[in-house]
Amino acid sequence: MKQPVLLIALLAAGTAGAADTPSFDAQRLSQHVKTLSSDAFEGRGPNTAGEEKTVAYLIEQFKAAGLQPGGDSKNGKRLWTQAVPLGRFEIKGPVQASVSLGGKAKPLQQGNEIAIRAAMNGQTAVAIKDAPLVFVGYGVKAPERNWDDFKGVDLKGKIAVVLINDPDFETGQGAFGGKAMTYYGRWTYKFEEMARQGAIGTMIVHETAPASYGWPTVKNSNTNVMFDIVRQEPQKSHAPLESWIQRDTAVAWFKQAGLNFDTLKKQAQTPGFKPVTLKGVSFSADYAVNAQTITSQNVVARLEGSKNPKHTVIYSGHWDHLGVGAPDAKGDTIYNGAVDNGTGLAAMLELARAYGKAPKTHRSVVFLAVTAEEKGLLGSEYYAANPVFPLGKTVAMINMDALSPGGKARNFNISGSAKLELLDRLVATAAKWNVAYSPDPKPEAGHFFRSDHFPMAKRGVPAISFGSGDDLLVGGKAAGDKEEVDYTTARYHQPADEWQAGWSFEGMSRDLEILYTLGRDLANSNDWPNWSVDSEFRGARDQSASERKGD
Ligand SMILES: [Zn+2]
Repeated sequence: MKQPVLLIALLAAGTAGAADTPSFDAQRLSQHVKTLSSDAFEGRGPNTAGEEKTVAYLIEQFKAAGLQPGGDSKNGKRLWTQAVPLGRFEIKGPVQASVSLGGKAKPLQQGNEIAIRAAMNGQTAVAIKDAPLVFVGYGVKAPERNWDDFKGVDLKGKIAVVLINDPDFETGQGAFGGKAMTYYGRWTYKFEEMARQGAIGTMIVHETAPASYGWPTVKNSNTNVMFDIVRQEPQKSHAPLESWIQRDTAVAWFKQAGLNFDTLKKQAQTPGFKPVTLKGVSFSADYAVNAQTITSQNVVARLEGSKNPKHTVIYSGHWDHLGVGAPDAKGDTIYNGAVDNGTGLAAMLELARAYGKAPKTHRSVVFLAVTAEEKGLLGSEYYAANPVFPLGKTVAMINMDALSPGGKARNFNISGSAKLELLDRLVATAAKWNVAYSPDPKPEAGHFFRSDHFPMAKRGVPAISFGSGDDLLVGGKAAGDKEEVDYTTARYHQPADEWQAGWSFEGMSRDLEILYTLGRDLANSNDWPNWSVDSEFRGARDQSASERKGD
């Protein structure tokens, strides 16, 4: 009867977590959040005085933790920062846009029927004259799923009209994970793929359910100033025209061409779909674009590994927030970003301190505080496109964004849904603390593609964003949901996202034991966790397999 004894021993160990795990001081976490989200840091806007203060604070803390600089090299020495040049693009003056229906021109109102983004391909003037429109269904080219919506169509000089989300979003089952969104369903993919296909432009047909947000969100986030990383060949990532159109507008154009929008959408949900030209419909536009370059910084700190220093485990989180902006009802103009993402920074700094005090790990551990997340994951995109440490030898990235500063939960989540061994390891590690994994209840919203781990994931690096649980030890799910609703309605992306004296930080300090153990076990192993075989990121990872042989 040895087994029950063993089981009891395991359970006892389980509640306490692993024996050599450090504990994380809630008071210190609170102090970091309080400082970073104070008014003196001006909401941590990139390229502002708030950036200078934030970067200086992070460097000072990493130094005190005993870490080394892991950023750009200058005169043979590494800096604490990686310079991130960013393109800033703004439409200058009015947007002239019109559609010709059977030879009759009809003007289109920017923000109302169409939302045109400032061109990010380097052009300072966009002039399109009578470009034909081609409906390309969901615009997906997925060789691993035997799916190609283009079927060799020539899109040069033409505008691609495309649906949002995956081909199987509406049917709920198929080659794209059913209701859950794969990257093929995300708007960023649609714009990137149309540029690869050589189209002069993209029009995404907005529908509320598959987009997961209404037209006002589309309008607000596409007709303002755009930012992008500075690219060698921006035209490879951006067609001159990137836009969304209202569903009713699209339906009318299809009708004019003698086509039925709903019938064609049904066809687009099958692999046999072929692109269809909207006969008698063409698009014209004329507007100027102001393109500038600004520079911001990623902060990179590193502890070199003792055996395999070229292998890297990364902890990450964005340091930026929205800066100073429009006043709220109280007249407050500073978007402090205490939860978003003062909490993730506090977590990273205390993890760094714990690593700094512990014996060296076999592999190197990097702490990466990225800029311009709020402008579209740009600091992390820049790092992934210009990695200081090779991606092929990057074991994993564990990202932290907007953690809960409250009490302990019985569960945790990650942003979105994905299948990868890194998550399996996190689930197994958390189980030692009796903390359970709760999958994303709304995988169709595509949260996996909205956080800083994603630029790494897209390039094959196993990466996830950890999220605090909602089933609280005190008060259960009801209390957790109340906290969540309070945050999203009253504080998220508002000046009221401020530090509160009543926050216990007990949940974070417990969760950091789990994240520390996850990273430390990886950094002391020779394992290379991969994506599941049916993941869209597996192919990219397998391409660099040879880099992981040897040291
Ligand atoms: Zn955030």
